[in-house]
Order: sequence, then structure tokens, then C-alpha cells
Amino acid sequence: MKLTWLGHSAVHIEADGRSILIDPFLSGNPRAPEGWAKGLKTLEAIVLTHGHSDHVGDTAELAKRFGATLFAQFELCAWLGAQGVEKTQPMNTGGTVEEAGIRYSMVPAFHSSAMLEDAKPVTMGDPAGFVIRTRDHAIYHAGDTCLFSDMALIDRLYAPKIGFLPCGDRFTMGPEHAAIACNEFLHLDLVVPIHWGTFDLLHGDPKVLRDRVSRGRVHIATPGDAFEP
Ligand SMILES: [Zn+2]
Repeated sequence: MKLTWLGHSAVHIEADGRSILIDPFLSGNPRAPEGWAKGLKTLEAIVLTHGHSDHVGDTAELAKRFGATLFAQFELCAWLGAQGVEKTQPMNTGGTVEEAGIRYSMVPAFHSSAMLEDAKPVTMGDPAGFVIRTRDHAIYHAGDTCLFSDMALIDRLYAPKIGFLPCGDRFTMGPEHAAIACNEFLHLDLVVPIHWGTFDLLHGDPKVLRDRVSRGRVHIATPGDAFEP
């Protein structure tokens, strides 16, 4: 399995012959590697944690270009379906959908999920995190969220060993809280900080997370550099 952080919350997973993108905010993402999407050869699935532009990003274009299946909240699937995304797997919190041997489980996140149309919010359903289980690995992408103690339940239900956790603060938990998630609620072997450093507004420092985590390895990834668990 190969994992690539693309800046912000965008993550590429290559596993079991599948190419999967989570929250593919690439155009307009100052940390995304230049032209990365142009070099992409295949894409079977796109997973969206919630309906904000810094997460939905290039979903419509990429889904249409590759015929990828979208896994997201019911409302978000409908909204993108209206933009021409043909293959969708609408879900809601607590649900699991399997496709090609990979299981996509939607788990809670504390955030918001709405798009502004004429300055009015249009709901995109509840925000979410995901646990994606391949043949050999369970990967938790927390989406945008604060710390919550039911992360322990996510650990109990799905036992993820790889976690992509936000730590930029302001809109999500900061590094101190993300460290509590790792030390008290999850049992991750590999922790990858996300949702930091994209914009000046996100002041949370992933090094603080690395310094505070007492179980599991924290990998402060470089956007575009693939790594293995
Ligand atoms: Zn966000």
C-alpha cells in the first residue's frame, strides 16, 4: 500500500489495485504538488468527509474524468450528482459500504457541512470521518473535527492502525487535542497530521503533536511524497 498526503486534508491511497482519493482539494490548494492530478492514471473512488470547498475541491472534475465512485453523505452525493457525477454511494453516519473488497465506513465528526449559495447555507448533511479497510490495513481519516471521546468507539469497531488527524486548530482540533486522541482513544501505529499549514489561519503545529504522542509514530508528511505504513 502507498499513501500520499497532498496538502490540507487530501490523501491518496493505493491499495489492492485500487486508487482512492479522500477530500481532493487540489486546485487552489497552495500545498498541493503542482500538476499532481494531471499525472494520475487511474481513480476508482473519491471519499468526501463533508461539503466544504476545501474538501470537495476537484471532485466533480476528477469523478467525471475517471468514472470514479463517490462515497459521501446522501445530500453531498445528490449535490454532486446534479453536477454530473454519475457513480455515487450515498451513505450516512454508522454505515459501511463495500466495493471491490474495500470497506468504507462513515464515522462521526464534529464540524459543519454546508455550501453557500447566494450567501445562504445549503446543507450537505452531517460532517463525517471515514475508516477505509483494505485487505491488510484500516485507515482512519478523521475529516474536520474536534476531539471527542467516542474516537474510542471507532477504535473498538474498526481498529484503525493508520490515522490522518487534523491539527491546524481554529476549524478543527489543534495538536494538543489530536495528541489526546492518539494517547487516550486510538491505538494508531502511524499518525499523519493533516489540515495544517495550508493557510495562515491554520496555526496548529504538527511538531507539537509529534512531541506529545506517546504511542505510535507521527509522520509529518511532505505533500506529494508517497510513503508506506
Ligand atoms: Zn476543512
